[in-house]
Amino acid sequence: MRILLVDDSSTMRRIQKNQLTALGLKDIIEAEDGKQAQEKLKAGMPVDVVLLDWNMPEMDGMAFLKIVRADATYNDVKIIMCTSESEKAKVLECLKAGANDYMVKPFTPESLQKKLGI
Ligand SMILES: [Mg+2]
Repeated sequence: MRILLVDDSSTMRRIQKNQLTALGLKDIIEAEDGKQAQEKLKAGMPVDVVLLDWNMPEMDGMAFLKIVRADATYNDVKIIMCTSESEKAKVLECLKAGANDYMVKPFTPESLQKKLGI
């Protein structure tokens, strides 16, 4: 399973990466904003799951989500929005825009495992 981890916080990326690694997932690509994620998605295909932050400079999670969902090439890519507690209200908007699921940060290894279906 290849995972694209998108978050502008390097600390958050490190935490998430450690959790993924602990679950035995080692095929991880990182991006620090939507723009970089778009380039890395294209270069790193096939990507199975995108863990997507909302607030990021350059291109935020919602803009990235809309671009990806407008391209049939990425139909099989599962997108999980990772929001903070204060951003919870935005979740419905994300799901309407084509996100498959969401998680509230910081998440536990158990919830990550469940959402990834592993
Ligand atoms: Mg952020």
